[in-house]
Amino acid sequence: MKIENIVRKSVLSQPVYQAGKPIEYVAREFGLDPDGILKMASNENPMGPCTKAIEAVSKSLDNLNYYPDGGCYELGRKISKKMGLKPTQLVFGNGSNEVIELVAHALLNETDNAVMGAQSFIVYKLSTLLMGAEAREVPMPGLRYDLQQMLDAVDEKTKIVFLANPNNPTGTVLSQKEVFDFVRALPEHVVFCYDEAYSDFQDEPVDIRGLIAEGRNVIGLKTFSKIYGLAGLRAGYGYCSEELAGYINRVREPFNMNTLAQIAAMAALDDDEFYEKSKAMNKQGRAQIEKRFNELGLEYISEGGNFIMVKVKDALKKFDALQRVGVIVRPNVGYGLPDWLRITIGTPGQNERFLAEFAKLL
Ligand SMILES: *Cc1c(COP(=O)(O)O)cnc(C)c1O
Repeated sequence: MKIENIVRKSVLSQPVYQAGKPIEYVAREFGLDPDGILKMASNENPMGPCTKAIEAVSKSLDNLNYYPDGGCYELGRKISKKMGLKPTQLVFGNGSNEVIELVAHALLNETDNAVMGAQSFIVYKLSTLLMGAEAREVPMPGLRYDLQQMLDAVDEKTKIVFLANPNNPTGTVLSQKEVFDFVRALPEHVVFCYDEAYSDFQDEPVDIRGLIAEGRNVIGLKTFSKIYGLAGLRAGYGYCSEELAGYINRVREPFNMNTLAQIAAMAALDDDEFYEKSKAMNKQGRAQIEKRFNELGLEYISEGGNFIMVKVKDALKKFDALQRVGVIVRPNVGYGLPDWLRITIGTPGQNERFLAEFAKLL
């Protein structure tokens, strides 16, 4: 029997996630020294990993023969205190990517659908399709969420509405009022999955705890990958009602968040200095890149997150030319945006190098 006749139907047509190119790949492909390569493609933290997290992790290597705490007891207590939630309202994940998938697993039947923006995080679509459910991609005119169109796309078979704010890859931002009005207009049978991966970079991030408190079906997602620079460890979580968290935790693999990720996340939550530095560097870098883009007369979107979208002709060619000089950025062809590049904001020196190489191509 051919394997294709054995695997689940939804797997046969499942698209493959296109990640930002790792430094080593580009080094091999173009014969470059990996140490000289600058990656501004995956919204990673240019300052490196959170200082306190590295210290805590390096002291904890001796206990790796033990399984992790599957319930993330200490980390859960710490987050619940900080957030004013109960530990039973939390769902931990191997990155918040996993929590997205867990939400889909817990909620979607094959006859259901999930609503999302056409240019929002691709994992919403992948997780939906993996469950054999329908991914309803709502157009985003001007690369912004069209909340009315999203409401219109919701029907009796809709289980989840996914939304990232700031959005990835477009970087566009919605206000607290826009988000609250939208959620309050959703029917009761829909769970609103609100992805806050980049909210830490906002001066006044939307706070959805009020929606949970008023009994709305809402789950917020947070990650340690971006502001704390811990993408390689994989640590994220969701927060929602106890009832919803209870069901999502049923489909969670017991030891999904590894020991070092838990330890690093706990230490990171105490590292206010790193957090503030990351935020400040991002702000400074945004201004630096915007200034040069303005001088070059480029169209760009720079509202939120730790990245900027810039419109250029032949974006793929420019992406390729940048790789050849050791600078990796992110094309958006997969999102139906062939004229846009997404640039992760770096350190001042990194931004300068990118801008110099980029300007040569225009
Ligand atoms: C980076 C990112 C995440 C977080 O991913 P992790 O799995 O926690 O590393 C989630 N959502 C969006 C939109 C992101 O860009």
